[in-house]
Amino acid sequence: MSNNDKAKFAFYWASSCGGCEIAVVDIDAVILDVAALGDIVFWPCATDFKYKDVEGYDDGFIDITFFNGAIRNDHEEHVAKLLRQKSKVMIAFGACSGLGGIPGLGNFYTTEELFQQAFEHSPSTVNPDNVRPQPSYDVPEGTVTIPAILDSVRALDQVVQVEYYIPGCPPQPQWIAAAVTAYAEGKLPPPGAVIAGESTVCDECPREKSDEKSITEIKRIHLVENDPEKCLLEQGIMCCGPATRSGCEAACVVAGQACRGCFGPTDEVVDMGAKLVSSIASIAVPETQEEIDALMAQVDDPAGYFYRFSLPTSMLFRSIHDMTEGQ
Ligand code: SF4
Ligand code: SF4
Ligand code: SF4
Repeated sequence: MSNNDKAKFAFYWASSCGGCEIAVVDIDAVILDVAALGDIVFWPCATDFKYKDVEGYDDGFIDITFFNGAIRNDHEEHVAKLLRQKSKVMIAFGACSGLGGIPGLGNFYTTEELFQQAFEHSPSTVNPDNVRPQPSYDVPEGTVTIPAILDSVRALDQVVQVEYYIPGCPPQPQWIAAAVTAYAEGKLPPPGAVIAGESTVCDECPREKSDEKSITEIKRIHLVENDPEKCLLEQGIMCCGPATRSGCEAACVVAGQACRGCFGPTDEVVDMGAKLVSSIASIAVPETQEEIDALMAQVDDPAGYFYRFSLPTSMLFRSIHDMTEGQ
């Protein structure tokens, strides 16, 4: 039960896979620090607080809200605004909340295209009457409503003001602990800070880098053998390390996989996709435009590679479709 002396914490998931919720319960002994510091006053995944409980709190009643997931529908937008009103500090927790994340890849398509895929064309769908979800539907017992999909996926700070960001897909325990400890000690950084490293994954990566022009072809990591001592990118394997914020100790690369960029861009990187293209270009052997075009054409799913976690907060935000095309 909450009392007036302890800090109040809230956790919420919007458009989320649930992995960030798992990360919260995976913080080991730090969970005891959280319990000692404060009470949880809202956590739909794990507790039975209701939205009306939150509506009844005074403005600023919640000390910190850890908000994971992107904003995909009008309910999530409403709850983000409600929690903002009731919280002193909002933390965008995880790549989806901070950058738009995997749900943000939906911005490459119109809502109609997404609905067509989900409710007509997907191999597991049988829907001869082309039934689509209706935000509001009348039944004898009354009106049933469900959240309405918004035109674009947005990161949390594109909907409400955010004080801090804990990056990652999902965030790692040490950075959750760092945020909780900083709060407990009154040492939170200036608003706007990303609670993680300040350099790049490449700076933490133990693989040997030569900075020599070495890419002659683009390879997929699961289809080739790679030299475990050498930089993956220099071997032609797409790795997002040069554009990605440090703090994970190059976890994926150390485990034998390429970095996918889940910690998001560093403060110096304006657009992850642009930075990654320039990183490849700087060590690519081909020099003429034709040769470079041919090399880049070998990148499977370039949009998903260059903007896997950051499309809504990139310079692109979303792709624009001419809805009159084909009519
Ligand atoms: S950041 Fe990753 S783990 Fe967290 S909700 Fe998004 S996809 Fe899931
Ligand atoms: S590009 Fe990838 S493999 Fe190469 S140094 Fe950076 S993180 Fe390591
Ligand atoms: S190596 Fe890259 S993808 Fe893997 S945890 Fe670190 S930032 Fe995320």
